[in-house]
Amino acid sequence: MDSRILAFVDGNLQTKWDELLARTREIYDLNAIGALMSWDQSTYMPPKGGTLRGRQLALMEQLAHERRTDPALGRLLDDLQPYAESLAPDDDRAAILREVRRSYERAVRIPASFASAFAKHTSESFMVWIEARPANNFAAVQPYLQKTLDMSRQMSQFLGTSGHLADPLIDFADRGFTVAELRPLLATLSVALTSLVKQIGERPQVDNSVLHHFYPKASQLAYGEQVARAIGYDFQRGRQDETHHPFMIKFGYDDVRITTRVDEYDLGNALFGTLHEAGHALYELGIDPAYASTVLDSGTSSGVHESQSRLWENIVGRSAAFWQHAFPRLQTAFPEQLAGVSAEAFYHAVNRVAPSLIRTEADEVTYNLHVIIRFGLELELLEGKLAIADLPEAWHARYSEALGVRAPTDVDGILQDVHWYGGPIGGSFQGYTLGNIMAAQFYAAALAAHPGIEAEIGRGEFSTLHSWLHENIYRHGAKYAPGDLLMRATGQPLTVKPYLEYLCAKFSGIYGTLTIDRPAAGIQSA
Ligand code: ZN
Repeated sequence: MDSRILAFVDGNLQTKWDELLARTREIYDLNAIGALMSWDQSTYMPPKGGTLRGRQLALMEQLAHERRTDPALGRLLDDLQPYAESLAPDDDRAAILREVRRSYERAVRIPASFASAFAKHTSESFMVWIEARPANNFAAVQPYLQKTLDMSRQMSQFLGTSGHLADPLIDFADRGFTVAELRPLLATLSVALTSLVKQIGERPQVDNSVLHHFYPKASQLAYGEQVARAIGYDFQRGRQDETHHPFMIKFGYDDVRITTRVDEYDLGNALFGTLHEAGHALYELGIDPAYASTVLDSGTSSGVHESQSRLWENIVGRSAAFWQHAFPRLQTAFPEQLAGVSAEAFYHAVNRVAPSLIRTEADEVTYNLHVIIRFGLELELLEGKLAIADLPEAWHARYSEALGVRAPTDVDGILQDVHWYGGPIGGSFQGYTLGNIMAAQFYAAALAAHPGIEAEIGRGEFSTLHSWLHENIYRHGAKYAPGDLLMRATGQPLTVKPYLEYLCAKFSGIYGTLTIDRPAAGIQSA
């Protein structure tokens, strides 16, 4: 008998399947309610609401954790296991059962008391960081970071690993990837990028002062919305609000929101931030509606997610073709500020390469060096080779070495990123670089399938690219692990080759011919 029909003729099995979906939908909704409270905390919550919100978020986490680890869910999975095994691996129901089991098996390894204590701790730690950062007060966050490190180690031990302590934490964000695989990949990338930065530093520099005139907030927000709409972000299923640290957040299939931050003296900040977050949102909004509120209704990994944001932000949004069409429109929005500026000069300005202190504002060439520093620090902290007390100075030393810059204070140093103050130490950063690498790999595959994509972008049309991404990435949600998705979409495992070729070609066009010595080993990674 065809196993697909079994679900419908066997009433008992159908009941169990329905119950499984109902239970996972409840977990999905509890997570969404928690996400809504986090969105509010980052946008409109009054400053003093934080303590209470921390307690409420911890409660939501506890309720979700109880459901994720409910033995009844484990029994359902066991009862449905023969059915799962009878399905083709590519079947949606097989993917759902596989993902529910993966999530269940992870969750039951972490004691409920620990999960709730960790949620409460990171919420408190975040609130302390919010005040410590502007005050340049590392001492205030130090005990919190120490506890985060201790708890991150514990979490890793609960999850279990035969490899590096960071592996289970990396797997949580970027399933399938390990330190053993990432280390050589990032080392290869670091050598190539350092060489590019050095070559560019010896060339005539790009002037980007045009970005730093006065650009009123309201006009910036209006233009950003126009661009988000143009690339396909649906304001009937989303909205944009202001926040200090921009993010995308999903409450359900038809409610995927983005946030932005406006600097009236930096035109690029909100504009590229909006393209970035809208890129994340397009991914979530493009998931097959049949997966709504199931475990497949989310992007598959932080790396693939970041590939979608960086693709729209950089590969499209910082391309010559994009500005060929968009620049005259931008000039209409800001006629005085952009008078006498050419599209080409503007394209160069938004692609200026210069070592800097802030990851989120870094150009495409130096960006991954910021990530590689953080990834290395995470590993050393977990390995016990670096103490929390020595972290501020280690940060400065790595920046001096890799980028030749040193922050005058810890504000733009160890206090810069939210990650370690709102989550575990380990697994927080590799996704950004994986995303850049994957973005170039996906885009190269899209171009190979549809060579006319760049000409379309030059006309302000994005439908062919959008359709390719929808067909090959978006619609699958979390069905395929990142490695499998890459293989299906590009025919290759993860490789830095398209990324380095992209950077080399693009920045040669701006700074004159650049070269990369390609190391024989380590360029490709399974
Ligand atoms: Zn992102």
